[in-house]
Amino acid sequence: MPIRLLPDQLIDQIAAGVVIERPASVLKELLENALDAGARRVDVTLERGGIGRCTVRDDGAGIAAEEMALALSRHATSKIFNLDDLEQVATMGFRGEALPSIASVSRTTLTSCTGDGAAHTLAAASEEGAELAPAAHPKGTTVDVRDLFYNTPARRRFLRTERTEYAHAEGLFRRVALSRFDVAFALTHNGKRVLDLAPAHDREQQEARVAAVCGNAFLEHALYVEREGESLGLRGWIAQPTFSRSQADMQYCYVNGRMVRDKLLNHAVRHGYRDVLFHGRHPAYVLFLTMAPSRVDVNAHPAKFEVRFRDSGAVHGFVGRTIEHVLAQTHPGAHSGAAPTELDQGVTPDAIGQRGLASDEAPPHAAINRGAGTQQRMSLGDTRSRLEAWRSLYGAPAATAPDLGGATTSAVAEAPVRPAADDDAPLGQALAQVHGVYLLAENKHGLVVVDMHAAHERIVYERMKVAWEGGRVTAQPLLMPVRLAVSSREADAAEAATDELSRLGLALTRQGPQSLLIREVPALLAHADVEQLVRDVLADLLEHGASNRIQQAVDELLATMACHGSVRANRKLTREEMNQLLRDMERTERADQCNHGRPTWAQLGMSDLDRLFLRGR
Ligand code: ADP
Ligand code: MG
Repeated sequence: MPIRLLPDQLIDQIAAGVVIERPASVLKELLENALDAGARRVDVTLERGGIGRCTVRDDGAGIAAEEMALALSRHATSKIFNLDDLEQVATMGFRGEALPSIASVSRTTLTSCTGDGAAHTLAAASEEGAELAPAAHPKGTTVDVRDLFYNTPARRRFLRTERTEYAHAEGLFRRVALSRFDVAFALTHNGKRVLDLAPAHDREQQEARVAAVCGNAFLEHALYVEREGESLGLRGWIAQPTFSRSQADMQYCYVNGRMVRDKLLNHAVRHGYRDVLFHGRHPAYVLFLTMAPSRVDVNAHPAKFEVRFRDSGAVHGFVGRTIEHVLAQTHPGAHSGAAPTELDQGVTPDAIGQRGLASDEAPPHAAINRGAGTQQRMSLGDTRSRLEAWRSLYGAPAATAPDLGGATTSAVAEAPVRPAADDDAPLGQALAQVHGVYLLAENKHGLVVVDMHAAHERIVYERMKVAWEGGRVTAQPLLMPVRLAVSSREADAAEAATDELSRLGLALTRQGPQSLLIREVPALLAHADVEQLVRDVLADLLEHGASNRIQQAVDELLATMACHGSVRANRKLTREEMNQLLRDMERTERADQCNHGRPTWAQLGMSDLDRLFLRGR
C-alpha cells in the first residue's frame, strides 16, 4: 500500500485510544478542564454509567465564540505556548487533545459563555456543517458527551457493565473532589443526586469532605499530617495502622493538586508504615504533596496519572520520614482518635478486630508466624545468640531487654506505683490478668483489655531501635571482604551513594567497571546474607534513588529479637508489673499495635458494657 496521511478523524480516534478508555476517562478530562477554567462549582450528570451521557457543567471562564471550534481541534490549547511553559506547567491539562479525542468517539456538544457576550453552542459532529448557534447559558461551560464509542464498535465491546463503568466514574469523581477542597462538586446519576459537596475552607469542613468521600470510619481512625520542608510540603490524613485494608483501594495521592498513582510515593508511604502494618494489609491515606512545578515532570503519561520527580530520593525520604514520624504517635493517649480496636458493633468492618481478621484473605496464623519474613531474607542464626551479640554490642540488658522478666522484678517494683490521674494514665489502673494472656485495666471510659505479649513486644522493640540508632555507626569489618559482580549501573549507583551507605555501616568499594567489594557491614547484620542485602540495596537505589533495606533488615532482626525477649503468655505478673506495662505502653511510640501490626489493646466503654447487660442508661 502507498504511504498516505491519515484522515483527521482517524488521527483523533487513535489519540482517543490512549486517553479515552471508558466513561471515567471522559469525566477525568472534562473535570480537569473545568478546574483549569477556574470553576468554583462543577456539576456532573451521568446516565447509564456514563456510557449514555456524561455532562460536566462549570462556572469557569468560558470559551469565546471564535475559539469554540479551536477548542475541539487537535493540539489546540490555551494552557501552554512554549517549552518553558511545559516545564513548569501548573494546569491539569496541556496536551490539547482531550476534547478532539472525546468528540471523535462520541456525540459531543460544547456550550459556553464568557460572560462578556451571548452564549453559544457547537455540536462537534463529525458530519460536515456543524455550526455555532446561539444558546442560553450562564458564564461557564457545559460539555455534553453522549453515546460513547457509538462509532467505534471495537472500543465499545471493551466496556464493562453500566454498573461497573459507573463505579469507575464515581471513583474518579471522588478522587477529583478531594483534589480541590475550595470547589463545590455535585454528582447525579440516572436522575439521582449521589454526592453534593460544598466548598471546604477550614480543616473541619475539609475533614467533612474527606469523610463524605472516604467514609466516616476512615476519618475516625485518621491522623492528620502536615509538614513543610524546604522545598517539599506534605499534608493530609493517614489511617491508624490497625485501620488497614485488604486492598490498596483507599489511597489518594496528589502531587500539586494532580491525582497520581505513583509507585515511588506508594513505596515511600509503605515504608513509613513498615513495622506497624499487619502482614499483607494496605494502608489508607489521603495525601497532598506540593513542590515547585519545575521539580516534577507531569508529561510522563498520556492520561497524566504518573509523574517523574527530578529528585526522587529526596521525595521518597521526605514522605517516608513524615509518615513514620506521624505514626510514632500511635500510642495510648497520644491522639484523640479512636482506640486501635473497639469492641462495639459500630466498629469499621475493615479494621482488624476479631471479625476483621476472620474475614480477611490472610489466614490469621500469618500473624502468629513471627519473623517468618525475616528468615526468608537472611539467615538469622540462633536468635538467642543474636540476643547475646546485641547485649555485648549495645550494653546493659536493662536498657534494651525485657524488664518484666523475673530477674529484674525488683527494678520494676521501684518504678513509681501511684494511682495516677486518668489524663496521665489513659490506660488506667490494672485490675487483673486473664489466663496469663490478657491484662484488664479500668480507665475513665470503662474497661481496657491488653494483649500482654503483643504490647510488651512493641515496647522492647522500640527500645532496641532507639539503642541501635545510638550505636548505628558500629560497622564491622568483614574478615573476608566479599566480591560482588554487578552491572555497571549498579556500581555507579553504589559509588554515588558511598557516604550515605557508610553512615549506615555499609562500606563498599568499586573494584572495576562491574565489580564491588563489600568491606564492612553493620555489626548487627554481620551474620546476615550480606550479598543479598547489598543486591537489594542496589536495586532500590536504581529504582527509587534511595534504599531502606538496611534499616528494614535491622528492624526485622530487632523485631524477632524483641519477640523472643518479651513476656510470654502464661506468665503471672504482679500488679506493679501490670501497671508498669500500661505506663510503658503510654510512653512508647507506636504502642497501639504490635510489631506485626495487630492491635495491642482495646477499649470496652461503659456503654458497651451496659449493652451487654441490657442496662438502659
Ligand atoms: P487541554 O486541556 O490540554 O488544553 P483540551 O482538549 O482538554 O486540551 O481543551 C482544549 C482547550 O479548550 C483548553 O485549552 C481550553 O482553552 C478550552 N476548554 C476546554 N474545556 C473548557 C472549559 N470547561 N472551560 C473553559 N475552557 C475550556
Ligand atoms: Mg484538558
